[in-house]
This record gives sequence, structure tokens and C-alpha cells, in this order.
Amino acid sequence: MRATDIIERKRDGGELTKDQIDFFVNGYARGDIPDYQAAAWCMAVYFRGMTARETADLTLAMAHSGDMLDLHDIAPIVVDKHSSGGVGDKVSLVVAPLVASSGLPVGKMSGRGLSFSGGTIDKLESIKGYRVDLSEAEFRQQLKAHGIVLSGQSKDLAPADGKLYALRDVSGSVPSLPLIASSIMSKKIAAGADAIVLDVKCGSGAFMKTPDEARVLAQTMVDIGKNLNRKAIALIGDMDQPLGHAIGNALEVKEAIDTLHGHGPADFTEHSLVVAAHMLHLGEKVQSVEAGRALAEKLLADGSGYRKFLELVQAQGGDVEMVDRPERLPHASIVRAVKADRAGYVQRVNALEIGLTSVDLGAGRAKKGDPIDYAVGLLLHVKVADRVEAGQLLFTIHANDQAKADAAEERLRRAINIGAEAVKPLPLFYGIVS
Ligand code: URA
Repeated sequence: MRATDIIERKRDGGELTKDQIDFFVNGYARGDIPDYQAAAWCMAVYFRGMTARETADLTLAMAHSGDMLDLHDIAPIVVDKHSSGGVGDKVSLVVAPLVASSGLPVGKMSGRGLSFSGGTIDKLESIKGYRVDLSEAEFRQQLKAHGIVLSGQSKDLAPADGKLYALRDVSGSVPSLPLIASSIMSKKIAAGADAIVLDVKCGSGAFMKTPDEARVLAQTMVDIGKNLNRKAIALIGDMDQPLGHAIGNALEVKEAIDTLHGHGPADFTEHSLVVAAHMLHLGEKVQSVEAGRALAEKLLADGSGYRKFLELVQAQGGDVEMVDRPERLPHASIVRAVKADRAGYVQRVNALEIGLTSVDLGAGRAKKGDPIDYAVGLLLHVKVADRVEAGQLLFTIHANDQAKADAAEERLRRAINIGAEAVKPLPLFYGIVS
């Protein structure tokens, strides 16, 4: 078998066999197939798509490219969640500790930033010392001792996804349904989750632009989970505007901490409580989603979620002082206010443009392995349907370079439409696939 033949077959619209998919994924994970061939193959998949059978085979090949954790000696049910990506999406930072503080173990393998979408692992690394490269033994040991892990792909767990993810980030092949579905589900399966809540986003700041596209992605992932005897449901959430106010790594960690203290933005707090409620139900901690919601609210209000976050950061070697006093998180040298030049209603907020602005400020990568600046990003102070007055604060830019701050201001001014007509607020969710 030759990698070139497999690339050409997909390029020409052919269906790949399980053997071809295994050969390609394992060859890339081992380093026998170089990045340029893998990038060409991803682009062929982007344009040609995959059948349900190919997507399932790709998921399994990536999951089996490393070890497969079996966590049943630690807990009868381990619950996990995963987002399909979005702008200002820091949900894992809140729901993982919230749910784990109920006693239901959460063992989560997350990703880095992907194109315009931020990544949980990059966000957590803005906390000095936080280790995202746990070995399999460390993952197990920490889950047993603390009931929570938020780690990245290690060499042991789904390494093929780790490599393909980083490659797709900088080679234009992220928004492909089979690549997203297999990337997410391979991580979940390799990390041993029994119950998985998928937080699938749609809108300008997501990889799926419409609720219908998001539903197809959600159904594909739920079906893969079920075929592998995992309980899975998917929520279809809005990403036509960023979630919460903060976009950028340390800014998002701070917002997550504020939320765990009960002072988070309303939309982000509500989104997190809904996801947590479903995790608590799917993980059989409670008998209904309503009971999950009540428990999640209680764990937020009594500080259990915050204390679990502190415990997590300490367990993974992070500086807990930065969590206790978020003003110690990395901060930018330039903080610039962007104000409305007219009164009216916020009719549209372009989440994609906002995500790209944050990447250009330095919060994301242009090339594989690029360093990122944890301090930079922006705060969005208004939401669609809000009434604003001339001179009201729309954005705060956090930058470490004047030219980049200037470019960000120009771009952000174009990313928001303010008009005379009132519009309806956007929904938080469009439905559930179960
Ligand atoms: N999250 C992932 O883990 N992979 C993707 O491809 C998109 C979002």
C-alpha cells in the first residue's frame, strides 16, 4: 500500500477501505507518512467527504493509534463532554469541575486552539505550570485521587488525532464533518468515557454554519458513540455570537473563574448549567435532567465547582495563586476601549471575525507549533438585541503590539452592526440529538 494511492483515491471521490484508513492513520502517527501527505489527504477528505462507515473506521483507527483507557476499576461511570469548537467557548473550564464536584468522575482529553476557535488546553496553559501532557498512568492516578482530569493528547492517547489536529489547524481543513467527528470521538473513546455530552455549535463562529449542518455532525457522533456502547447525546448550541464576554486564553480563564464564583455572564452561565445538567443525568448521578440542573446550580452556588477547579489546577501542577487571584494571570500591556459611534440596537455580531481578530492579536497560531500569547484577546461587552447608546463600550482590546491593536480595532468595528431596528435575542440552544 502507498500513501499516494490513498490520497489520490480520496481526491477522486473514492471510498477508502478500513485497511487503507488504518494504514494511513497508523503510518502518520508513527511518522512514516510526512505532514505534507497527511495535509493533502485531509484536504481531499474536506472536499470529498466520507461515508458513515469510513468516518467510523477513521474514528476507531485514531482511537487505537495509542492506548485505550479502561477506567472501570476507578469508577463504574466516567463522564465527559466535548465541544465542536467556537469563539469564547470556555465551557469545559466550568462544567468539568462543577460535575466532578458532585462525585461523578470527569476524565477529559481536550484540544488546543483550532483555526479561529480557542482550545481548552491553550487556555489552561495560561496558568503557570499547568501540565497538559499527562501520561496514561498519571491520567488514571489523578482521576482516582481527584475525580477530575483536564489534559491534552499525550503520546499514549489518540496520538494520531493529536498530530492531525495540529496539522488541520494551519492547513485549512478544519471544517470537515468526518474530520471533526472522528477527531472528537476518537479522543473520547480512547480516554475511556462511558457517557459523553457533545456540545455542538452552529453559526458564524462555529465550523458548522447552520443548525441543520450541526445536527448531521451531532447525529454522526452520537451514532459512533452508540455503536461503541457509549452513552452519547448532543446539544445544538448557538455560536452566531461569542459565548460570554471574553475571547483569548487568560481572559477566558478569568471569566471561567468569575463564573465559578457565580459572577459569570448570563449566557455563558446558563449554557454551562445546561451542559452540566445533561452530564449529571447521562452519568447517572441523578434521575432527570431537571434534577441535574438543580444539582449543578447548587454546586455552583455553594462554591463546590470553584474548589474542584482549584484542586484540578493544583493536581496538574498549576499555580493556584493565579486562580485565587486572577489578576496574576498573564495580562497585556495595551488595553484599549472601542466605543459605539452611534446609538441603536446590536443587530449582528460576527463571531468568526471576532475569533480571527483574537488569533491575529496572538491568541492563536498561524503555523504549526507557533507560540501563542496567553495575555491577548478581547472582551465583547454587548450581545445581539442589546440597546446601545453612542459612546457606550463595545469591546476592550487586550494587545501587546500597537499595530496589532490598531488592526484589531478596525476589524472589530466592522464585526458589529448597530441599527435602528430592534432584533430578537439569539437562542442559546436549537435542540438535542439523543
Ligand atoms: N474539537 C476537536 O477535538 N476536533 C475538531 O476537529 C473540532 C473540535
